Amino acid sequence: MPFTYDDSNIFARILRGEIPCDRVAENDHALAFRDIAPKVPVHVLVIPKGNYVSFDDFAANAGEGEIAGFMRLCAEVCAAEGVGLEQGQGFRVISNAGAHGVQEVPHFHLHIMGGAVMGPMIGARG
Ligand code: AMP
Repeated sequence: MPFTYDDSNIFARILRGEIPCDRVAENDHALAFRDIAPKVPVHVLVIPKGNYVSFDDFAANAGEGEIAGFMRLCAEVCAAEGVGLEQGQGFRVISNAGAHGVQEVPHFHLHIMGGAVMGPMIGARG
């Protein structure tokens, strides 16, 4: 089972303060920081503070306060980064899950990506 939660993953280490991150915003339930290898001008990762491995794990098992806190932090990031529809020209949200999703870090995260036209949706590999 490669996608069970493993608290030695890099985002868990960021949450414990063991390694630094370029923090964008934070609340009681979630943390947002810049992706270390940005693919577009705005590339922010939002992670819950709880130990959830993937989007479906978080959606099924997180408490209402955790879900609300996480989603509100996403809205705060969109506004602060100037990509929300009230401030800017939009964005794309991606969450990779498991082997077919090509997930690298097994702690649930959303990629908030903007600052450029994203292009078409990505096709599946071979
Ligand atoms: P994925 O799990 O495939 O959705 O992607 C994980 C993302 O985490 C990649 O875009 C990496 O560039 C990013 N990443 C890996 N390590 C760090 C780190 N220490 N700080 C910020 N972003 C990271």
